[in-house]
Amino acid sequence: MDFAFTEEQAMFQQAAAEFCKNEVEAVAIKLENSKEFPMALTQRMSELGFMGMVIPQEYGGVGADYLAYLLVEGEIAKTSIGLSMTLGAQNSLTGLPIMNFATEAQKKKFLPLLASGEKLGCFALTEPGAGSDPAGMRTTAVKKGDRWVINGTKIYITNGSVSRIAIVWARTGTKPDGKPQITALLVDRDESPYKTGTVEDKMGVHASPTSELIFEECEVPADAVLGKEGDGFKVALMTLNTGRLSVATQSLGLAQAAYERARKFASEREQFGSKIGDFQAISFKLADMITSINAAKGLIYHATWLKERHGLSDPRFISMAAQAKLFASEMSEDVTSAAVQIHGGYGYMKEYRVEEFFRAARLMTIIEGTSEIQRLTIARQELKG
Ligand SMILES: Cc1cc2nc3c(=O)[nH]c(=O)nc-3n(C[C@H](O)[C@H](O)[C@H](O)COP(=O)(O)OP(=O)(O)OC[C@H]3O[C@@H](n4cnc5c(N)ncnc54)[C@H](O)[C@@H]3O)c2cc1C
Repeated sequence: MDFAFTEEQAMFQQAAAEFCKNEVEAVAIKLENSKEFPMALTQRMSELGFMGMVIPQEYGGVGADYLAYLLVEGEIAKTSIGLSMTLGAQNSLTGLPIMNFATEAQKKKFLPLLASGEKLGCFALTEPGAGSDPAGMRTTAVKKGDRWVINGTKIYITNGSVSRIAIVWARTGTKPDGKPQITALLVDRDESPYKTGTVEDKMGVHASPTSELIFEECEVPADAVLGKEGDGFKVALMTLNTGRLSVATQSLGLAQAAYERARKFASEREQFGSKIGDFQAISFKLADMITSINAAKGLIYHATWLKERHGLSDPRFISMAAQAKLFASEMSEDVTSAAVQIHGGYGYMKEYRVEEFFRAARLMTIIEGTSEIQRLTIARQELKG
């Protein structure tokens, strides 16, 4: 087994690290506290090719492999989780489902816009009554002549307020067994306007807005369907199966950033005449932190390898991606919390940033399938046979 990165993967990781060091680090605290969308830095991520990492070159992207994309995302998460969320929304939640399910005409229309960052994308699945169970959705899309007319409200949509492209899930009928027929639709906001409702005031990750989206008689062309009519669950699930690796990687980045700060602090801070890192209570904490960081890394890389080898529908990949997300997100919560503890009172201050990483890590066990849903996914795959 080869654990070395390819030249291209290492080059992208290095480029992301340099971008963070030279352009993000100095403004990272401001980004988190100002709650303004960092449009200029998002544009820089486009110029560097990061927004189109997973999009093939023929559609204006970089066409890198998935691990290269994850390495960039993880690197950026260490410095700005908000920018990393934007990268995830563009690549993993919008670019990938279009690549996997769109017609050639849809790909030609939407992928270059996403890759160049000209339009930001969002993934609009969640509703007030439909979170872990999307079957509870109330948004409808009704066919009228050569148009679909969408009505409904989506909530908690990452970058919803700044998006110009949305993948929207809606009920398009009822199946013979009485269950809802769900279809995914591609909506270009400049042609089919939708409104931003409440922009949420949340615990952390402030450089990535989370908002309500309102669809009122929103008309899209008949060919706006992504995948086949009625295949909405398939589009959502296959996207989320891969998206979980993206969230796992963000969790890893947060944990690594918190660990590095804690390690440095422990080797500098003195109490009772010793470095606090000399106290076994602190050094063992650090040992446990780095061990679980590396365990998460192993799960993420293994799941990525399964994806590249066996494809998105492979049950081993589905289970391993859920394991990676479950473990990495819960690990991130523990590691960032331990980093706050190692910093003592300093850890509670914004200046040291570990409290920010802790608040961000708290999100990771919730988005793109909660920990409970990951356990259900893993158990189902395991019990299949
Ligand atoms: C900052 C942020 C960004 C987000 N971005 C997006 C986005 O871009 N697009 C999007 O569509 N959504 C987005 N979401 C929504 C997110 O995916 C949902 O919040 C998440 O899936 C959980 O749904 P819910 O909040 O309705 O909780 P619920 O589903 O109501 O769950 C509440 C609790 O019940 C548990 N639970 C539910 N069902 C089961 C079960 N069967 N067995 C055991 N336990 C269960 C859950 O694990 C959880 O602990 C975002 C959310 C946040 C907070």
